Amino acid sequence: MKRIRLIITGIVQGVGFRPFIFNIAKKFDLYGFVLNTSSGVIIEFEGAKIDKAVEYIRLNLPRGAVIENIIMEELELKGYNDFQIKESDNNSSNKISISPDIGICEDCKKELYDKKNRFYNYPFISCSGCGPRFTILEDIPYDRDSISMIDFPMCKECSSNYKEPSDRRYHAQTICCHKCGPVLMMDGAKTTIDDIAKELKDGKIIAIKGIGGYHLACDASNDEVVELLRERKNRPHKPFAVMMELKDALNNCIVSEYEKDQLQSTSAPIVLLLQKKNSAISKYINPNLNSLGVMLPYTGLHLELIRQTGPLVMTSANLNGHPIIKDEEELKGLMGIADRFVTHNRRITFRCDDSVIRCFENNSIIIRRSRGFVPSSIKISKSTPPILACGSDLKNTFCIFNNGYATPSQYIGDLMSRDNFNWYTNSIEDFKRLFNTEFKYIACDKHPAFQSKVYAKSLDKPIIEIQHHHAHIASVMAEKNIKDQVIGICFDGTGYGDDSNIWGGEVFVANDKEYKREYYFEYVDMPGNELAVNEPWRMGIGYLLNTFDIMPDIEFVKKYERDIFLYKDMISKGYKFAQTSSVGRLFDAVSAILGVREVITYEGQAAIELEAIANDYVDIYNYKIMNGVICTKDLIKGIILDIQNGVSKECISSKFHNTIAGIVLDVCSKLNAKTGIKKVVLSGGVFQNIYLLRKCYNNLVSAGLETYYNSIVPINDGGLSLGQILICIANM
Ligand code: ZN
Ligand code: ZN
Ligand code: FE
Repeated sequence: MKRIRLIITGIVQGVGFRPFIFNIAKKFDLYGFVLNTSSGVIIEFEGAKIDKAVEYIRLNLPRGAVIENIIMEELELKGYNDFQIKESDNNSSNKISISPDIGICEDCKKELYDKKNRFYNYPFISCSGCGPRFTILEDIPYDRDSISMIDFPMCKECSSNYKEPSDRRYHAQTICCHKCGPVLMMDGAKTTIDDIAKELKDGKIIAIKGIGGYHLACDASNDEVVELLRERKNRPHKPFAVMMELKDALNNCIVSEYEKDQLQSTSAPIVLLLQKKNSAISKYINPNLNSLGVMLPYTGLHLELIRQTGPLVMTSANLNGHPIIKDEEELKGLMGIADRFVTHNRRITFRCDDSVIRCFENNSIIIRRSRGFVPSSIKISKSTPPILACGSDLKNTFCIFNNGYATPSQYIGDLMSRDNFNWYTNSIEDFKRLFNTEFKYIACDKHPAFQSKVYAKSLDKPIIEIQHHHAHIASVMAEKNIKDQVIGICFDGTGYGDDSNIWGGEVFVANDKEYKREYYFEYVDMPGNELAVNEPWRMGIGYLLNTFDIMPDIEFVKKYERDIFLYKDMISKGYKFAQTSSVGRLFDAVSAILGVREVITYEGQAAIELEAIANDYVDIYNYKIMNGVICTKDLIKGIILDIQNGVSKECISSKFHNTIAGIVLDVCSKLNAKTGIKKVVLSGGVFQNIYLLRKCYNNLVSAGLETYYNSIVPINDGGLSLGQILICIANM
């Protein structure tokens, strides 16, 4: 017999933690209490089987709960005579981990299909272990009055479930049912899932309100309707995500155990899977790619809908470059795109796209971090005044630092769009309010033309400007709690360099405070300047002009003969184009020269399609490193020679990938020998390329280097804001 007090921190509120503890107390004959406080959940147990109970807690956490720390202390016996769930103290709600949205749980799935259950077929079924959280939040602490469920007074049954400590829905703030909860409407009239399914099977495109916003849905195996959706959205190639049951995912894709776990995880993200050759999914969903973005149904509505229709395209409903639509008033933007509009009357408070991840072996990287992940935070263990990091202008997220935790926002997107920019500034205000914070310092990118920097300046607070690629590297250091010096490899598309050139092929020795540029890819011209970003053929010309005096005899040169002549002439007359060391642009150039992709319709397309054709060919091209400059001339010459010798695109692509991975190993080994630094950090959008990331990682680890890359925040510019926080703290 003893008495102990446990203080548990992490995501332990809004996930059914207290009823879980209540039932454990019953199971192990313990007395005492459980209490939610602003510094975590406090539990007191008195009884004989305490050790067993604590062990049980660790092993059987409720789905969605994440324990960060358990502090345990033994106290004198008090002689409790029951176990109580005490009322929360809501006064000082400074640091509460707000739960992200949680995909539907197994218990709710069972009830959804149980004809005798009162939640049978209810689209908005949820419990204390699943359902929306962040996207219905209006204020903290998280309870019924501070979420948009306040619009739905509980019926008698719901309220008795809510009050019963042994019930799975005890204090489940999202509890609701057919009688008292939100209702489904199609084109303004009450509807059923059966009706919606019928329309979809009929080849209609339907806007459907989900958790973080609207989706555009249509039958994923119907070529005609998928093509129609592309036409109406003016989106020629960018892949669509598909929602399907697990059995269909296994039928259509090659799915590892690890990927299966990710699909079924509480965050229920889109997982980019390798598609099988004989898949029944329309080829118009992911043109020229071998990967398919798959997610499992994550609400009652989705589950029953997909059961009736089979795989559905489920793409964020927005106009290109604009935020995902969440409110009914915004739907007019979809007139002419959607045939039907399925809405419901529960308000979405925070817009949130579906998250996207990609896996290799037992690892994953995040491409887009939104629903299911936000607003989880990352512990930094520094105590400084609150900071706002403004992020990048591309794939923007911002990040706030408060009480030792960095909390990145959901994916906002590109800030050049007015609507996105408004969403950005409003979200910053919302986070400020939620986390009850006044920022003392502002961190932003050095790029003089970034909207995020203009915004940072408008706040009239001390600003720390941070080099783009240093922030990428620091984002990994923040995630992995790395304090010492690292060799930082940052390959991306665009970042403002200290010499005003466009950087993106950078090798630093860095810590959280400063960096030294040890190696970089040779600068080349960007013919047409920023036009070259969307027209990779221009980069092809840039690299050819950098490499050859007399143009080689290949198809690409014949096709662009006039442009090559024009640019050569401009350069000889002294015209100065923007210069770049970007590895992203090098991928573009190779993709264009090979004829894989010469003009893109979505970001990264040329590199993505180049990766898609790579096979397991193991050869590599030559390259030189001189005075810290990684020269690409031999590499380009090698590629041209292979083209002339009729080597396949697939082999050239692999050889090119292998060369970049070889360069990474080479420079890291050199720097390791020179400095003794053993830790290598990989970051930047180019590493969304799994073929490249896997090669680099395996090479480096085999060479005995400790290798890290982003797995908590996006490896692309979406992770930049977290890195900015770390560097800002170090430089304050
Ligand atoms: Zn549930
Ligand atoms: Zn009810
Ligand atoms: Fe970047």
